[in-house]
Amino acid sequence: MSFTIVRRAIACTALLLTTVPYASAQDQRVPGQVPNPTKEPAVVTPGATPGAPPSDAIVLFDGKDLSQWVSQAAAGGPAPWVVADGVATVKPKSGGIQTKQAFGSCQLHIEFATPSVVEGSSQGRGNSGVFLMNNYELQILDSYQNPTYFHGQAGAIYKQHAPLVNASRKPGEWQVYDVVFHAPKFDADGKLMQRATFTVFHNGVLIQDHVIVMGVTSHDKPPYYEAHAAKMPLSLQDHNNPMRFRNIWIRELAD
Ligand code: MG
Repeated sequence: MSFTIVRRAIACTALLLTTVPYASAQDQRVPGQVPNPTKEPAVVTPGATPGAPPSDAIVLFDGKDLSQWVSQAAAGGPAPWVVADGVATVKPKSGGIQTKQAFGSCQLHIEFATPSVVEGSSQGRGNSGVFLMNNYELQILDSYQNPTYFHGQAGAIYKQHAPLVNASRKPGEWQVYDVVFHAPKFDADGKLMQRATFTVFHNGVLIQDHVIVMGVTSHDKPPYYEAHAAKMPLSLQDHNNPMRFRNIWIRELAD
């Protein structure tokens, strides 16, 4: 080994030792992780069938009515979407709906179907969205052979993270999102202390792997964080397409 190579090796090692940011134990903490549990985990009875709500879930829509939801356009008024045959359908141009109850970190199960008759293209085809805390959109779109910008397709954290893969079913078929969301944290002065994260399965396929949310998922502004309450409503978007929803439930998670 030449002197030059040895000298370079020493220099590289020194550089690594001085610049690698060793994470502290605090940095490595995963939201929701309990390092030293002092009590036995609670017993939860799982749903009787795949996708059915477990015993500690809050059922947001079971096919009967939208009594857990309100209109966003007519602030606080009854949710205007149509419920029939166990399904809630977006009434185009009536506005989004949001839950009466507010939530922070959560596990969410939601089933949706895009219109079986295909109309429009790109963002105009089968568009809706699930907004965690009214601010952070997990995109719903008919992304079956429907090209659009990658971080705007089904399963995207809108305009921030494209899904890892496109696991979309055909138009009209029922699809599922299973979501783990960790809420952002702000201090008493409204300073951001911890960003939100998403993990998402689309029809059982991992599409978002604990990604960090960079802020509000605006369509015309870069992401930004604005302090908000520790718990906020969950909302569903009216994007002028008659999207269908069923079997929506949520479990609150302690951070
Ligand atoms: Mg959308």
